[in-house]
Amino acid sequence: MHELSIALNILDIVQEECRKADSATVTEVVIRVGTLSGVDTQALTTCLHVASRETLMQDACIRIDRQQGRGFCAGCQQEFDMEDILTPCPECYQPATDLREGQEMLIESIIVD
Ligand SMILES: [Zn+2]
Repeated sequence: MHELSIALNILDIVQEECRKADSATVTEVVIRVGTLSGVDTQALTTCLHVASRETLMQDACIRIDRQQGRGFCAGCQQEFDMEDILTPCPECYQPATDLREGQEMLIESIIVD
């Protein structure tokens, strides 16, 4: 399960940051997930809640920001919004020739107490 390994990875990073900040509680974690990253945000939220039980992160508010994906069509020379990896060009209905934004999955901020 892809999302569980991502959740465990996030938890590792958050715990490491807590150690550095010499802090015992995480109050908020904001994660940015692009619509083209292939990450299921619903599944990720569930996995994060499960993975963070009995850790520094168990009472943290976990927020997931979705980053709009953008693709480029070489035929029409234009950029367009993509809801997922299969969203075609709105002009010619061809798949995007290039993905410009929305492939990232990163921790945007960690607030500790
Ligand atoms: Zn096009």
